[in-house]
Amino acid sequence: MQGVQTGTNVIVDGFEGTVIIDPSPAVIKKYEKHSAEMRRKARGLDRLRDQPAISRDGLKVGMMANVELPLEMEMVKLAGAEGIGLLRTEFMFMNREDIPTEDEQFAVLSEIGAGIGDHVMTIRTLDVGGEKPAPALLGNIDEAAASALGIRGIRLSLADPSTLRTQFRAILRVSNDRNVRILLPMVTTPSEVRKTKRVLVEEAKRMKRAGIKIPEDLPDVGVMIEVPGAALAADALAQVSDFFAIGSNDLTMYTLAVDRANEHVAHLFNPLHPAVLRLMQFTTQAALRARIPISICGEMAGDPRYTALLVGLGIHDLSMTAASIPEVKKRIRDMDALAASQRAMQIMEQTDSGRIAMMIEDFNALA
Ligand code: PEP
Ligand code: MG
Repeated sequence: MQGVQTGTNVIVDGFEGTVIIDPSPAVIKKYEKHSAEMRRKARGLDRLRDQPAISRDGLKVGMMANVELPLEMEMVKLAGAEGIGLLRTEFMFMNREDIPTEDEQFAVLSEIGAGIGDHVMTIRTLDVGGEKPAPALLGNIDEAAASALGIRGIRLSLADPSTLRTQFRAILRVSNDRNVRILLPMVTTPSEVRKTKRVLVEEAKRMKRAGIKIPEDLPDVGVMIEVPGAALAADALAQVSDFFAIGSNDLTMYTLAVDRANEHVAHLFNPLHPAVLRLMQFTTQAALRARIPISICGEMAGDPRYTALLVGLGIHDLSMTAASIPEVKKRIRDMDALAASQRAMQIMEQTDSGRIAMMIEDFNALA
């Protein structure tokens, strides 16, 4: 921002991760062509909206959306999402001084719910802390204590469950009309899940006693697998969870000790590092053994380069930003799932992330 004057032309290339300041006419022309090409491609992909994501050999993959705010629902519907795999509720709490009331939360959740209809709606409890600050919630906890390794996500919710209780009440009310699942962020041990479930049951009882309508069966409760320790103890967490959602953003950050918000180490952030992939494989196998559903909702899930690897590892539900759904769906429809799982097995024998990237590229070039 320091190098740019107001009024200067700037091109933001989200594909390359670059910003071009004061581009020459030739560069502008090149990008205009690129942009027209993108729009043409998007129109082509639009035709896939009502087609299922089925591989050439008949494997159905669930295509869900990551959602932060109600205004995204138009796009979510346009993209043909089959549900919400991650609703980041912390966005309701950010950029404001006070905490939204139960009714305010209920209104926002209802609006999002109306957009997804009968499909599954996975609502994550607050994931504040780390790179997602919300001053109103931290109260007397200073920012350093709420760092990535501090009181973040479920730890903050359990430290003072009053906000969690309000959030559960709003979620339970929405569950009357929607197919809701509850997802817990930054979990590391089964006791966190048990404690959170106790709060949920207490709140449900309280509401029933007060004559407030809630569903007979409480929503399923699942956990994000986004800390290496949670991945390595996935079999224990599977005993107390109804489903898993792999958070590859934080899983990569914590496994490789690379701050996801620090540009100086951005080149080291690599979800194809064998350590990250092994943790994802370990988690997936624990979920399959425990017969609980598993999905992935980190940025990786929305990158068509990685689709074959994820599906090949046995993750058959993907949740991503709505804009990525058509391209990932196309990748699945062009792909042979059996060949993808054979390639995934070969990849899991590798120790070098460069070689892994090459093997994925080779596979993707075949179909
Ligand atoms: C993740 O960590 O991969 C994830 C999906 O959660 P968030 O990006 O909201 O931390
Ligand atoms: Mg996360």
